[in-house]
Amino acid sequence: MTPPSAPTLRDGVARFLADDPGRLLIGGSWQAAASGETFDTFDPATGQALASVARGDAADVAQAVAAAREALHRPDWRGMSPADRGALLWRIADLMQEHLDDLAELETLDQGKNLRTSRFGEVPAAINQFRYYAGWPTKIFGQTIPTSISRTPVGKELFAYTRREPVGVVAAIVPWNSPLIMTAMKLAPALAAGCTIVLKPAENTPLTAAFLGRLLQRAGVPDGVVNIISGYGAEAGQALVEHPDVAKVAFTGSTAVGKRLVQTASTDLTRLTLELGGKSPSLILPDADIDAAIEGVSRGIFDNGGQVCVASARVYAHRDVYDRVVEGMAATGEKLRLGHGLDPNADLGPLVSTPQAERVASLVDAGAADGARVVTGGTREGTFYTPTVLTDVRADMPLMREEIFGPVAVVTPFDEIDEVVAWANDSRYGLAASVWTEGLSNGHRIAAQLEAGTVWVNCHSFLGPELPKGGHKESGWGTENGPQGLENYLETKTVAMVI
Ligand code: NAD
Repeated sequence: MTPPSAPTLRDGVARFLADDPGRLLIGGSWQAAASGETFDTFDPATGQALASVARGDAADVAQAVAAAREALHRPDWRGMSPADRGALLWRIADLMQEHLDDLAELETLDQGKNLRTSRFGEVPAAINQFRYYAGWPTKIFGQTIPTSISRTPVGKELFAYTRREPVGVVAAIVPWNSPLIMTAMKLAPALAAGCTIVLKPAENTPLTAAFLGRLLQRAGVPDGVVNIISGYGAEAGQALVEHPDVAKVAFTGSTAVGKRLVQTASTDLTRLTLELGGKSPSLILPDADIDAAIEGVSRGIFDNGGQVCVASARVYAHRDVYDRVVEGMAATGEKLRLGHGLDPNADLGPLVSTPQAERVASLVDAGAADGARVVTGGTREGTFYTPTVLTDVRADMPLMREEIFGPVAVVTPFDEIDEVVAWANDSRYGLAASVWTEGLSNGHRIAAQLEAGTVWVNCHSFLGPELPKGGHKESGWGTENGPQGLENYLETKTVAMVI
């Protein structure tokens, strides 16, 4: 691989990077951290610093939460009609569409993923989140409830109804693997519900959130409704979760941090949704369209360098088709060209950082030393890691049990359906799974048996704002997307009156 060089940037991206993009957004104004501290965000392909970013901490969090709390009840937000709130969300989507190429380039630059993934996958998906939830503000309503309570005075009756109200100030904490879409998955429903938000982007990838912040202001989001605090998880993130005026934490990230947040949030019984890690199985039955299965699971694990929560990390292929699947996945991986995400001749960018690439390499090396066979890949060059296919991985090995978050597939043969369903479910994770079969009955039956929040049949990683997405077992609490995603940001109030 020739070392990637610094790319030429679009005007909109160059202007944005020159305009001190790393400030905090608090109450409508862009400002430095109270401490004056900053850190750099890097292009993971070249190691070049892209921007200096404010290192927000508890003092900035306190200001941002106060701004969000003040905005929650201000007439320009609480008094905005549902139709106008819907129109605002649609306007945000329009502005993102107008800047789609800037957002895609910036995402690739900061995170490393191939531009095709940003430009045709993730940024359009983020826009769709706002379009989908733009339809919801006008459809949030309570119910009138006939009651059996008989204590009403003679001649009077009880009139009872529910109101759906925004939960309050939301802390939205997102990871680095798909920053803009993760941000949109929280902001769009939270705004639709009428909440106010303090967003904390991941420290590795804060730039598209800052760009989006400028678009939110142009769209007319009132000051303080969305605040952005960049910074480290243990400082800014922790302070947000601890803040007593934060009513709800919407977190996407690792299972380890998610478990810590449960403890922190318990102090104030802060509401919590957790979208966490995964180790998703893909089951390829002998009657599947094998070429489609090979393509689907290969994309499922190699796209975005495997830094995808639902990546098809464990592939189980029926013994009749096992050799073909292993060879097909290896050939697919070997065809992928590594290079800068903005290089049109490259298919796969770097991993997000050197520590991440080192972590992937150490897991693969340890597995190989313990008997796993490296069919292809298994090499690291700086932040780049080659697409890797492994076989002979035992069920007790970390390669089979841990989330690797790299382009590393483990392929295992099976003979019986019952056996493979048990293996697929033998995981502390339960985020997603796929089944590949032309048999309708097997497709439905296995989908019902798999312990996962999403099961795809004859596809993998098909996600959209209409499709509820949540993790079973240690992959999370609660569900994002769809009507369920809106529920996360609403409380029910019952009003009962004698009339
Ligand atoms: P991470 O848990 O290290 O960090 C996620 C976010 O939490 C970051 O913004 C980080 O700064 C913040 N954070 C860290 N410590 C914190 C603390 N003590 N208090 C509050 N905030 C804190 O995860 P990551 O490495 O950025 O992301 C990768 C993980 O995210 C993987 O496990 C992946 O599976 C998961 N993920 C899950 C989904 C899903 O929908 N289930 C989607 C994408 C990524």
